[in-house]
Amino acid sequence: MAPAVTFRAVSRLFGAVRAVDNVDLEIAEGEFFAMLGPSGSGKTTCLRLIAGFEQPSRGAIEIFGVNANAVPPWKRQVNTVFQDYALFPHMTILDNVAYGLMVKGIDKQTRYGLSEEVLDQVKLGGYGPRKTGQLSGGQRQRVALARALVNKPSVLLLDEPLGALDLKLREAMQEELKALQKRLGITFVFVTHDQSEALSMADRVAVFNEGRIVQAGTPEEIYRNPRTRFVADFVGSSNLLPPGITETLTGKRVWSSLRPEMVELSAAPGRLSLSGRLSTSSFLGAVRRISVDLGGETVHAHLPASQTLPDEGSTVTLAFDRAALNLLEDAP
Ligand code: ATP
Repeated sequence: MAPAVTFRAVSRLFGAVRAVDNVDLEIAEGEFFAMLGPSGSGKTTCLRLIAGFEQPSRGAIEIFGVNANAVPPWKRQVNTVFQDYALFPHMTILDNVAYGLMVKGIDKQTRYGLSEEVLDQVKLGGYGPRKTGQLSGGQRQRVALARALVNKPSVLLLDEPLGALDLKLREAMQEELKALQKRLGITFVFVTHDQSEALSMADRVAVFNEGRIVQAGTPEEIYRNPRTRFVADFVGSSNLLPPGITETLTGKRVWSSLRPEMVELSAAPGRLSLSGRLSTSSFLGAVRRISVDLGGETVHAHLPASQTLPDEGSTVTLAFDRAALNLLEDAP
């Protein structure tokens, strides 16, 4: 079966700016795929290339195995949920959702029937007659979703769809979106700069930097085995150990990363260890974050909040499994 979306050596240039730089990518049918990266890394341009709002300067976009470069946006089996929702304020919710079907010339009874069905799917059954001004942020987000879903797309593109919501609502919507996607089985391609959102929702994540995909994989793969300093630092928090320190631990002169939650304060046989001076300790609620000064380098550890600590300034031993130390590909 052909992938839902394929990028073949795709670049998109705007003048001298390489917004997308030689990207190869396959997104499987039914996958919840996240494009993650800092501002300006090319995520939105990739989404617009799939939608057909942008054309590749080089390479090809395929949708279900067919070259789509010459296919206009409205002929692709793809719909977009925009960050600002782009709802019509003067129309009812039902008319907002039915709008795309009306443009396609579908009769009133059919389009209202289908629109009510999708409003039910996004838990807005009965809200049809209201105006969008009477809705909360989360409800507006769901109307925008319903408006895209009513077209029965094979691929749904979402550009920072939860960006306008506060943290609590965003977390609730993350779970809802994920459940909806699994229920409908539609391929979702989701753009975010929020690493925790990408990890918690996606089946697979592509990490972007400067127009390139620097790593793609499952959330676990990316979190456990970041390949570069950029990924280790951008996804979760990580200690980055310079080649000098990694060499004393493993004999390999390379950069390595070490997650703070993998570090403990008690040495044990068979584990790697580093000694330093306990410089700070902060209570973060679930854990206590300590910094240990190795004489120039600082290593952070997340310890159980209930653990009793030696005084600040004392010498401590940090211990971790060899497997927790992740060797990176960056040049030493
Ligand atoms: P953000 O999270 O801020 O939306 P992004 O990762 O989605 O960022 P893009 O919007 O794809 O990044 O932009 C990538 C680069 O391309 C940026 O340097 C941006 O300024 C540039 N760019 C995007 N669209 C255009 C355009 N129409 N004209 C000129 N430059 C553009």
